[in-house]
Amino acid sequence: MRHMAFVEFLGQLKQLTPEQRKRLVWHLMGRESAPAPRATAPLPAPTGCPYCSAAVERLGSWGQSHGLKRYRCRDCGRTFNALTGTALAHLRKREQWARYADALIEGVSLREAARRCQVDKNTAFRWRHRFLRDAAGHRAEHEAGIVEADETFFLESFKGQRRLPRPARHRGGVAGKRRLSAEQIPVLVVRDRSGQTADFKLEKLDAAHVMAALRPLVDQEAILCSDSAGVYAAFARATRIAHRPLNIQHCPRVVDGVFHIQNVNAYDSRLKGWMRRFHGVATKYLENYLGWRRMLERYKTTVTPALCLAEATGRHLNS
Ligand SMILES: [Zn+2]
Repeated sequence: MRHMAFVEFLGQLKQLTPEQRKRLVWHLMGRESAPAPRATAPLPAPTGCPYCSAAVERLGSWGQSHGLKRYRCRDCGRTFNALTGTALAHLRKREQWARYADALIEGVSLREAARRCQVDKNTAFRWRHRFLRDAAGHRAEHEAGIVEADETFFLESFKGQRRLPRPARHRGGVAGKRRLSAEQIPVLVVRDRSGQTADFKLEKLDAAHVMAALRPLVDQEAILCSDSAGVYAAFARATRIAHRPLNIQHCPRVVDGVFHIQNVNAYDSRLKGWMRRFHGVATKYLENYLGWRRMLERYKTTVTPALCLAEATGRHLNS
């Protein structure tokens, strides 16, 4: 390997997940094959009663059932386990979940995830969306300081649906030029300088929908940076939040050094680059994929199967 290629290769090692690091070390040590990723990861403990929302102090132990610890709520008297009421309740083959979470972290294909977990492709598909259901709703709830907003678009897709409202496209496809606007699903991405990130699949890119997404999110003292689209100006006027519109076409991309939308743009392009592997995703699942990407960005190289399982059961360990 040429020296420069080697330097580049070393730089890429930073992106490895803990599981991939372990496998690389095994490989370098000349072992025949690396051990399969650890199948079991601890399931996160309940944070309260799933029935009456009593606090965790009101829960007592109640033996075991189906290999899971049971709890009893002293307030409502009901018993349950760590999965009751979560997206993972009633899924089978629990012994494969950590391995599946690892496949999610790596972003492998359904076929490969199915192979690793010894399940069929339909199961791998069902698991994907059960594992991502809660992560899809886990986005920043408050952004402050310099807040960058920008919109990006995904091609509308009816992938997986039996009856298509129009003729099928193949491999992600290309939007017909004439109907471009109707076939693009707008996603509003908002990121502040501390890395808090939220994104919203919008029904329509108009002032009302942008307002509904931004109003509860953006701090009153924030400075909103966006392109010069009228929807952001309308939001800023209505909320009296400071606004630095950037006329991307005609002005310098950066105003006064700090006012730019380069962080949110970089996020968009990482999102788009990562999504390419799916060859177009069904619009009805788009939010799950957005949440998946957000989860990977949230934990970066510290992401583990245990964290994925915590996300999947709606127990967010950090924001
Ligand atoms: Zn209860």
